[in-house]
Amino acid sequence: ERRPLIAGNWKMNLDHLQGIALVQKLAWTLKDAGFDSGAVEVAVFPPFTDLRSVQTLIDADRYALALGAQDLSPHDSGAYTGDVSGAFLKALDCAYVLIGHSERRTGHGEGDEVVRAKVQAAVRHGLVPVICVGETEAELEEHGTSAVPVRQTKAALEGVAAGTPVVIAYEPVWAIGTGKVATPETAQEVCSAIRNAVAEALGDADAAATRVLYGGSVKSGNIAGFMRQPDVDGALVGGASLDAAEFAGIARFR
Ligand code: 13P
Repeated sequence: ERRPLIAGNWKMNLDHLQGIALVQKLAWTLKDAGFDSGAVEVAVFPPFTDLRSVQTLIDADRYALALGAQDLSPHDSGAYTGDVSGAFLKALDCAYVLIGHSERRTGHGEGDEVVRAKVQAAVRHGLVPVICVGETEAELEEHGTSAVPVRQTKAALEGVAAGTPVVIAYEPVWAIGTGKVATPETAQEVCSAIRNAVAEALGDADAAATRVLYGGSVKSGNIAGFMRQPDVDGALVGGASLDAAEFAGIARFR
């Protein structure tokens, strides 16, 4: 059984003080609701500058929240001004790191090769890569639903050894921040195709254990339909993760 993962990608929002306030509110909201963190994993992905503050808070108050970063360097250390090493993220107790988010693929020209190098770096440092894949509207029209996410998944997993924990997040680019949401049926179709790609790359056991998430305009009002799909194991949430009550509502999808 795969433990569902509800992941909040804050993107470039909230400084460290605002981040502390949100995490406190989120933890209290979940606690008040009797949330079972053993049944569903909740993770937050703050900006780099917030990570230390959020980590300290989670540790001090024993909040059952996992921490992730939004990106990492393909390199381990050295003359890479502005880059952040996976080693530093690991030292801050990050469990996860987003790789290949569409905002990095399109805004920073990150292609399959860069994504693959970053996946390798994450694995080297004991971080679980949350590999983001998804097609643009033009690619959807040209190739249909699954072709691009499947290609990106295979490319990202090249050179990854069987037994390496990874998470794949299917985020159709046209659904990100637009309010245009994929149907649960489409999400299921693509997540199932992605799982088959994981099976090809890492084997059947890994494919059965790998969590495949849906992302793109997920809200507390539409999460249930996605979570009912057999191959959708959680959500990668952007805008709605910035509001504690709304994000807690998504985590309590049942
Ligand atoms: P929205 O939930 O704001 O559509 O963003 C999705 C996303 O890009 C999460 O990584």
